Amino acid sequence: VAAVACVLGVDVGGTKVAVAPVDRSGAQLAGALIEPSESGSTEAFLAALEATLVRSLAKFKEFAPPAMGLACAGTVDVSEGVVNKSPNLPLVDVPLARLLTEGLGMPVVLENDAKAAVWAESVAGVAVGLKHVVLLTLGTGVGGGLLLDGRVYRGAGGGAGELGHMIVQTGGVLCGCGARGCLEMYASGRALVRYASTRVRDPELDPEGVLLALRVKGRLTGGAVARLAMQGHPGALEAVEQLAGWLGIGLVNVSNTLNPEMIVVGGGVGRLGELLLGPAREFLGKNAMPPGRDEVRVVSAKLGNEAGLVGAGLAAWAAMAGTGDAGLGAGA
Ligand SMILES: [Zn+2]
Repeated sequence: VAAVACVLGVDVGGTKVAVAPVDRSGAQLAGALIEPSESGSTEAFLAALEATLVRSLAKFKEFAPPAMGLACAGTVDVSEGVVNKSPNLPLVDVPLARLLTEGLGMPVVLENDAKAAVWAESVAGVAVGLKHVVLLTLGTGVGGGLLLDGRVYRGAGGGAGELGHMIVQTGGVLCGCGARGCLEMYASGRALVRYASTRVRDPELDPEGVLLALRVKGRLTGGAVARLAMQGHPGALEAVEQLAGWLGIGLVNVSNTLNPEMIVVGGGVGRLGELLLGPAREFLGKNAMPPGRDEVRVVSAKLGNEAGLVGAGLAAWAAMAGTGDAGLGAGA
């Protein structure tokens, strides 16, 4: 097999690691290697991650990747290659890029997962060619990534784009970040479950007791509510409508603040598509200011689960070209 110019893109999550070869255009060249990630101590996590990456280098040997990009959730100092803090990984101020570069004998660069995802959507997804793009990821939590003037926007300390923590309700639900009333508490998968839970004993909204049965079995998840809504279940539909109202508030704030050309909505809850985006878009149209409200397109993400690893690969390409924010480590 002829060698194809590619790097390895890696998405490191709290439960699994996904690795795949990514070419310069952001195309994924083979199916991903997916292995569980270790959630115990920092040492155990690092050892397991390095072992997975060694196996991925063997699996994708024919592609002869010269570098690796790695995306994870949390605050990442991209230029230093340090993970400062992550909501789902046991990493605090860990120089992950240097450790992996030394361990693997290959340059490794880091990127935040939501920033990787907006990068990927703008190069190989739904926002190709656009320069002002906001990504909102609606999963267990709510993540955000900003592409402004054609570049991933990081802010002064790398913390820009935490859209899930814009406060939308004074004295609202307590968020994991310590504040009350964050968008994440109202537009995430967990919020969808909360909305559905209030409708379980209503005979008109849960006529066959489907929601109630799921809750009793401990299986009332965001995904389950979403599936029921898509099947037309009245209580699940109302829950989605409630979530869409809060999402609409987030969209108005984003449009008024940044005037993006496109807001891309991804994540598990984002798969609801028009059921969710329709009412949220309508709220945006009524409440945001011109010219933003008339220009912005609100669309579903295209890349799904692959967005993180594709964006990580693009970060590695940019580092090799000297155009990225991450420098290649000393081991390069
Ligand atoms: Zn918060």
